Amino acid sequence: MDAPIDNAQAAGWPGMMDRRRRRRAFYLLLATGLIMLLLGLGWATFFAWRGAWPIVAVELAIALLGLVVIVMARLHRPRAASWVAFAGLSMLLCFFSTFLDVSTDAVPRTSHVFLLVLALCAHHVFRDERPWLRYGMVVVLLVLFAVFAGAPIRLPYSFAIAEDVRRVGIWVNLATAMASFLVVLRLAETDVAEHRALHRALRDALSQRRFMLLYQPQVDARGRIIGAEALLRWHDARRGLIRPADFMQAAEDTGFILPLGQWVLNEACRQLAAWQSQPALRRLRLSVNVSALQLRQPDFVQQVDDAVTRSGIDAGLLTLELTESVLVHDMDDAVAKMRALHAMGVRLSLDDFGAGYSSLSYLRELPFAEMKIDRAFTRGIVRDAQAATITRNLLQLGRDLGIDVIAEGIEHEDQFALLGEQGCRLFQGYLFGRPMDVDAFKQRIASTP
Ligand code: C2E
Ligand code: MG
Ligand code: MG
Repeated sequence: MDAPIDNAQAAGWPGMMDRRRRRRAFYLLLATGLIMLLLGLGWATFFAWRGAWPIVAVELAIALLGLVVIVMARLHRPRAASWVAFAGLSMLLCFFSTFLDVSTDAVPRTSHVFLLVLALCAHHVFRDERPWLRYGMVVVLLVLFAVFAGAPIRLPYSFAIAEDVRRVGIWVNLATAMASFLVVLRLAETDVAEHRALHRALRDALSQRRFMLLYQPQVDARGRIIGAEALLRWHDARRGLIRPADFMQAAEDTGFILPLGQWVLNEACRQLAAWQSQPALRRLRLSVNVSALQLRQPDFVQQVDDAVTRSGIDAGLLTLELTESVLVHDMDDAVAKMRALHAMGVRLSLDDFGAGYSSLSYLRELPFAEMKIDRAFTRGIVRDAQAATITRNLLQLGRDLGIDVIAEGIEHEDQFALLGEQGCRLFQGYLFGRPMDVDAFKQRIASTP
């Protein structure tokens, strides 16, 4: 396999699939919102004409919730939009089934059938969430369905829709429910098929050695290379180099990040071991990105220990880059593992500092050896006084805490100069080299004084 130097963003097929999936979810939410809006307005008009004002109020509430779903979907808040859609729809279906669509001897209740469609939707939409949510939601909706199907709920103060309307309504309801069921089933099938295809493609790529690491130089204040960050690429024969942005989400979703991350770790340690035998390279550090899911594995510390021991490298040359996301799930577990890794001698780096919801407290308490200032801050420092103030403060913070600070995404000499004046001693960015294959990296070292 020829090993190309990192080129522009190769638009990847996995990324395309991911985008298609998100687009489908977007349109599904939009359609749900639109159906709620139109049904709500339609029925509200009908009942206004009949003078049934409490029902009009309920129908308008459905329409309003539909509008909220549409707005949230358009604001790219699919999770929040899904929550509103589910919570709103289930509450309104229950309200409708209890007070408006009341069974009589002549006409049975049918609105509760939509709870089955909603249960199917919930299982699909929340499939990546934790089991209590994924199954809990389905169970709640099924129980509600059973209650409305089996229990003779006839509250005396119900404001039932007239029987002549319901006699036609049951067939409209049932036909709509069946059609929605089929649409949701078809969408779920397509999603699952694509998910499987992507997982298979990732697995084949790993077994066919189609993943590779590129190395991006990290330099000191004089521009001398002191190490590198290992950056993953999928080298596809037809599609060229595929960047992590185009497959990492899929690797996380399918759990494939675990074997892939282990491969990255072993490959990085193997590379460090190979550099040990060459005097010009033996002191180089190598940074590896570790995802939150990887750190959550119970045996992650053991995996690192094995990789370090097997390759015989000095653990201090290996840096694991973590982002704040590792602390979101089980913070105690993450902290315990970080302390164990630190005790082993491995360096820990806080990647993309400032990009998320950075908190100073864990910077002080956790055994980080390094903090990486995100490109979002270094990008504008020359023109933006506020960005320059932030980087100056972050560098001061690093000095106060006694940890290294490395500025990411340096592309221009003036950024390098300004950060240097602010006391920054470590840098990474296109100015010093794009991610490159190992031979190019070695040549770069040989050619720099
Ligand atoms: P990151 O760890 O923050 O890596 C830095 C990213 O910024 C890299 O993108 C690098 O190519 C890019 N970059 C470096 N200097 C410059 C610059 O001067 N200008 C600009 N515009 N960009 C610059 P890349 O390689 O596409 O990686 C993206 C992200 O994917 C990484 O962000 C990291 O979070 C993740 N990633 C990469 N390799 C791995 C891996 O092996 N495992 C895991 N879990 N994540 C990885
Ligand atoms: Mg990184
Ligand atoms: Mg970064």
